[in-house]
Amino acid sequence: MKTALVIGGGFAGCAAAHQLQLMGGWNTTVVEAAPFLGAGVRTRYCGGHPYTFGPRHFLTPWEHVYSFLNNYVPLRRCADHEFLTYIEEDSRFYGYPIHADDIPQMPESTQIQEELSAINIEAISRLTPEELAKMTRSEVAKLNKASDAKDFEEFWIYSIGKTLYNKFVNDYSRKMWQIDDNRKIDDFTWSPKGVTVKEGDRAAWDTAISAYPIAFNGYDDYFAIGTQDAKVHLSTRIERYDVPNRAVWIDGEKRAFDIIINTISPDILFDKCYGELPYVGRDLHAIVLPVEFCMPESVYFCYYAGKESFTRIVEYKKFTLHKSPTTLITLEIPSMTSRYYPMPFESEKAKAKKYFDEMPDQVFSVGRAGSYLYNVDIDDTIDHAMKVAEKLKS
Ligand SMILES: Cc1cc2nc3c(=O)[nH]c(=O)nc-3n(C[C@H](O)[C@H](O)[C@H](O)COP(=O)(O)OP(=O)(O)OC[C@H]3O[C@@H](n4cnc5c(N)ncnc54)[C@H](O)[C@@H]3O)c2cc1C
Repeated sequence: MKTALVIGGGFAGCAAAHQLQLMGGWNTTVVEAAPFLGAGVRTRYCGGHPYTFGPRHFLTPWEHVYSFLNNYVPLRRCADHEFLTYIEEDSRFYGYPIHADDIPQMPESTQIQEELSAINIEAISRLTPEELAKMTRSEVAKLNKASDAKDFEEFWIYSIGKTLYNKFVNDYSRKMWQIDDNRKIDDFTWSPKGVTVKEGDRAAWDTAISAYPIAFNGYDDYFAIGTQDAKVHLSTRIERYDVPNRAVWIDGEKRAFDIIINTISPDILFDKCYGELPYVGRDLHAIVLPVEFCMPESVYFCYYAGKESFTRIVEYKKFTLHKSPTTLITLEIPSMTSRYYPMPFESEKAKAKKYFDEMPDQVFSVGRAGSYLYNVDIDDTIDHAMKVAEKLKS
């Protein structure tokens, strides 16, 4: 049997251990610092309500990843899943992503329409009449100068104009990343929710599969299934790393492995020799309310785009369909005391790359912190584990 060490027992670590189990022939050890597997995706309970640390609904463009997880943790698709954003200066909720039908309701609608038209005129000027005739309005809007933007602020101003940017994006993004200036964000290949101004259907995700586990305990069974053949060390931290030799010290004992699958921040594996990788974290407050539901029927999240200390609230019963005369929401407050979101700065990605470059063959680094990429979600962690398995088979 070959030996594998999986560092971290979050979704990525459990998915990696599961792939090794499915391949067979691996003696797998999982080391997890917390007393449980699954990290923030593990189900917690408050007032009898199941919830996770943040929404953690399953979103994927990949049918095969959905089917894979659905085999182990049956999923229910969320059909009409909408988000709202609260704008304090208007004392109003609008759809999020920003919806074209809400613009006439905004006090600055004339200014906003002028800015959007200017963006469209600029985009149209890049087209021949024949090309233009074949395109829809939203396809034209996507041709704006945003592709030339050098930072996140320019990306949004080129996409939606200054007024909508200041209303919906500017304060929210600075709060989300705990920064004073959005021009510092120079890795913005992702954009929040992938669209700028939406038309038609108000469902937040009409191009991806959106789902949630049917079981009361959410994804938890998967963590047990994925690691059932592995030796799992909970509440355990690796004391020292010798990555070039695929060796680590656990409980004072040096152990070498044929492969290592890392899912934690790569700087930790190298004693931060190129410097610490920065993250922003979250504090989460679970609040039970004395009503059956507190948000409109199809609304699952509300974002708060202004100077409120929190970023969003989530109503969990919308996902879980759990019956109760009360409802549970969580309030998320950005904080620097935990490490959840890799910072979207090219300089930090370059620093992370130095660590990845130090990793020999047969040391894989996957998952959100393991890749040092913000836009790694639950589906990506499964995809990463599948890709490692493919490499090991080839
Ligand atoms: C608030 C929030 C909401 C989210 N909502 C969604 C969502 O709705 N949908 C979605 O698809 N994705 C969502 N995500 C992202 C998604 O949940 C994560 O990308 C995914 O769970 C990451 O899994 P991971 O295993 O890579 O990392 P983690 O979950 O961070 O797991 C890493 C594990 O490593 C352990 N660890 C850390 N250091 C050590 C150490 N030194 N030794 C041993 N173990 C260690 C940790 O305890 C943890 O268990 C959300 C993320 C957050 C933070």
